[in-house]
Amino acid sequence: MTEHLNHFIAGTGVEASDGRRIALVNPVTEQVYGSCARGTAEDVDRAVAAAQRQLEHGAWRQLDGAQRGRLLVKLADLVERDTDMLADLDADAIGRSPLEPRRLDVPNAVANLRAAAGWANQLEGRTIPTGGYFGTKTLSYTVREPVGVVGAIVPWNSPLMITVWKLAALLAAGCTVVIKPSEETPQSALHLAALAQEAGFPDGVINVVTGYGAEVGRALCEHPHIAKISFTGSPEAGREIQRTAGVLFKHVALELGGKSPQIVFDDASFEDALRGCTLGLFANQGQICAAGSRILVQRGIADRFAAALADAAQAVKVGDPREPGVQMGPVAKKAQFDRVNRYIQLGIDQGATLLAGGVSTPERGWFVRPTIFANANNDMAIARDEIFGPVGTVITFDSEEEAVALANDSTYGLAATVWTTDLVRAHRVAGAVKVGAVGVNCWSPLDANLPWGGVKTSGIGREGGFGGAMAYTEEKVITVLLPK
Ligand code: NAD
Repeated sequence: MTEHLNHFIAGTGVEASDGRRIALVNPVTEQVYGSCARGTAEDVDRAVAAAQRQLEHGAWRQLDGAQRGRLLVKLADLVERDTDMLADLDADAIGRSPLEPRRLDVPNAVANLRAAAGWANQLEGRTIPTGGYFGTKTLSYTVREPVGVVGAIVPWNSPLMITVWKLAALLAAGCTVVIKPSEETPQSALHLAALAQEAGFPDGVINVVTGYGAEVGRALCEHPHIAKISFTGSPEAGREIQRTAGVLFKHVALELGGKSPQIVFDDASFEDALRGCTLGLFANQGQICAAGSRILVQRGIADRFAAALADAAQAVKVGDPREPGVQMGPVAKKAQFDRVNRYIQLGIDQGATLLAGGVSTPERGWFVRPTIFANANNDMAIARDEIFGPVGTVITFDSEEEAVALANDSTYGLAATVWTTDLVRAHRVAGAVKVGAVGVNCWSPLDANLPWGGVKTSGIGREGGFGGAMAYTEEKVITVLLPK
């Protein structure tokens, strides 16, 4: 099938202003299967103008929270109706099995839209007692207003779900948006925009401009009428965005990468920890920000645990995810394939023990073998850097203090998991690790009601939960003089 995808601006599909396009490549076959518009600054300008019109003068501005909530519920129903189609769009674009987005990403998106529908009319202000105004009493209160037009910049690994984390919250708050999906995965954002139109959102509330980060993303960050940039992606791009948008005093929320530790104590349920670590390593080919790629294991069980992880890695059937029985597809793009292989070679060169997998040289398709390193230390590149592929690094520790120190010895701070049956230790370690989310005997769940985000190089700000919607509002204070 040849796809010819265009921007979605003010309710209509439009080509790039200069007619240029970006080829879409299938990671299984390496064949071009279609193209999307290569957006320009002029396209961004057009989309921002449409979003601003709705925000300031359009039908959208007239809707109250409950009415916005009703539209969000309708959109949730339509996304749910199209579950299989949306899962296929996201899966095929990156060579992932559609079963994962069908079970996780799309239901999570639906749940976020439904949760946000409830928040839309709960974004309340406060009444604040004050000392009055030069001896005269006053009434001071605050209201929550939409922050403005949002630029939402999204990566390729879970395109629909991450788009909806932003979209649901900002729509609940009454904002309008220009979405810039990843140049590799524009499909689901465009379908989502069409569903929003079907649900009855006024044209111009949700716009999608496809294209490159250095062109469309940058134009959004520099645009004078974008009030907030909500970005999910790599720390490198996040840094650049902070420089460009921050200097213009825009709100900037950054959801960045991770090198999340899985801390396995010797009293943990071996089987549960093994299952959890395997999931945390290999789901979506390891292309997950919260991938549990640093596996810290207590010495008494370390060798046995590493060997069991290696067995699990070797048992994963890699291939075309559309074929029955296949558990893992290719990584999403050539650059990612080269990056993962480069890190595997670095792990070998720096002296870690390769227990499973290794550098991959497939004939066709960007397939990487699930890889496990043991006897690693926390200074190695495979322990410090986010690889974003199916590569696990096992590091041994002796004491709880050492485990916490190792976990925190990272520039990242997104998520951590603690595997133990000691309840007191579980809480102690959960409190001591410097991350945005901790799972105890589970991988941190992504629930619509829970905040999500990181510390340090993993980002600034939180998405999800009620606070996620509040983050798309400005608090305005109003004071009324009350003379006798
Ligand atoms: P990326 O930073 O290369 O790209 C992300 C998005 O930003 C894309 O749409 C891209 O076109 C755009 N972009 C790139 N450079 C830009 C710039 N200078 N200005 C504006 N926009 C720009 O990241 P990626 O390779 O698509 O995604 C992988 C990264 O995303 C990993 O680091 C991963 O950990 C992170 N991620 C984080 C979370 C989270 O919730 N914390 C979730 C998923 C992915």
